[in-house]
Amino acid sequence: MAPAGRCRCPPRRRSPRCQASAAPDARLGRVGAIDDLLRNNDRFVTTFAHGSLEPHPAHEVALLTCMDARIDPALALGLVPGDAHVLRNAGGIVTDDVERSIAVSQRALGTRAVMVVQHTRCGMQGLDPNALGLPPRTPLGAFDDLDASVRTSVARLRASELLLHHDDIRGFVYEVETGRIRELTPD
Ligand SMILES: [Zn+2]
Repeated sequence: MAPAGRCRCPPRRRSPRCQASAAPDARLGRVGAIDDLLRNNDRFVTTFAHGSLEPHPAHEVALLTCMDARIDPALALGLVPGDAHVLRNAGGIVTDDVERSIAVSQRALGTRAVMVVQHTRCGMQGLDPNALGLPPRTPLGAFDDLDASVRTSVARLRASELLLHHDDIRGFVYEVETGRIRELTPD
């Protein structure tokens, strides 16, 4: 329980009045966010019913998407625990580690299909690498053309020697404005 009078609103949603009450406890506020999630987990385990699931995804699908907080793949696609592998990173782009993970997904855990889902209004679109103050040559994965970025990731997976299955790899764009997922037409 937060001390009386302390604002618990997320920082970007605080009113000026909230800002005044939250300012002295800014450091504690960050710790409190994690504590809030752990309290949610305490409630979660009271009704947990997935302890007997097998690790092999029931739908034999691996899904790659962006880490963007507005996207919930389970809600958007009707997934439940045990259904699919979900990989996330900044942009939802194929990297060496994504390729490695999908190789393990296919070779050890039986998936065959891959969905690559990037999204509208992504922070990686048009991002200037210099704006983040990262060391030079840090691979950022920023892109300008959304559809082209999806196609590039799909093409990399289709050409990957690490993957076993290449015939059901498809690219999509999630629209954060509507929740709709549209498939890109093949090249
Ligand atoms: Zn994004």
